Amino acid sequence: MKYFLKEYEHIERWKDLRKDLFRNEEPAIKLIGMTTPTEEMAAQGVTSETLPAYTARQSHESAGTHEDDLRLNKKLISWEHLTCLEAVQFVYYVTGVSKSLAGQWTRHRIGIGWTFRSTRYVKASKNMFVYPALEYIDSEDTAREVYRAYEREHRHAMDVYEEIKGLGVRNQELRRLMPVGWSTAAYVYVNARSLRHFFELRLDGSAEWEIRRLAYLMFNDVMEKAPTLFEDFLE
Ligand SMILES: Cc1cc2nc3c(=O)[nH]c(=O)nc-3n(C[C@H](O)[C@H](O)[C@H](O)COP(=O)(O)OP(=O)(O)OC[C@H]3O[C@@H](n4cnc5c(N)ncnc54)[C@H](O)[C@@H]3O)c2cc1C
Repeated sequence: MKYFLKEYEHIERWKDLRKDLFRNEEPAIKLIGMTTPTEEMAAQGVTSETLPAYTARQSHESAGTHEDDLRLNKKLISWEHLTCLEAVQFVYYVTGVSKSLAGQWTRHRIGIGWTFRSTRYVKASKNMFVYPALEYIDSEDTAREVYRAYEREHRHAMDVYEEIKGLGVRNQELRRLMPVGWSTAAYVYVNARSLRHFFELRLDGSAEWEIRRLAYLMFNDVMEKAPTLFEDFLE
């Protein structure tokens, strides 16, 4: 990870131990789309990143270069003039996150939405599990032992799943057997303002480790795409 925040420290300390665990899945994100200016605007030097500053110039009917707009982005954020950040929408494909994470994530109501994989329509037979980071456990032996316990429970859930599936139980009831560590996948649609709010709450050390890990992955990605809209989080 290029952009490091101390709140991320240790989260991946036992990642290697998880590699061969039963149906283990690690989180991954992929940018699917991002608002881009029209050809006419692009010809004037406006980019996805400078859309907020460019549109905010309406208030004074001012004009500026690309560099001016990058600087203005940062000023707008410091002034909390944030509506213009809604000009930039991101669409991510997120995999390897748990049902537990989904419960927390979907509490965010403004400027964000999802399409999750349906556990009514998609069979669980191929589904994976998200194992906890256990970053607060210092002993490798203890971490291994805890992972083995999770593994046992995940295998057991799948065994019972197959057993009652054989008796004709449908997906929508079968899914009730699955622990909250069951992995899911989603497309998330979020604008830059809402993403900042998500980072404010979920990059913080007080946030639960899995959603903090996801926030960290997304933060590192948007820092590559539109740094001026997010880099103040590094301060
Ligand atoms: C560390 C941490 C611990 C948490 N623990 C728990 C917990 O134990 N139990 C639990 O149930 N939840 C918990 N939550 C979830 C939390 O209460 C929020 O539901 C979640 O973080 C979404 O935040 P939000 O409402 O600010 O976001 P959004 O829903 O995206 O809202 C964004 C902003 O819009 C405004 N807004 C949105 N809706 C309204 C409204 N109806 N009225 C007025 N203003 C509005 C607010 O300014 C809000 O901050 C926790 C969150 C964190 C970060």
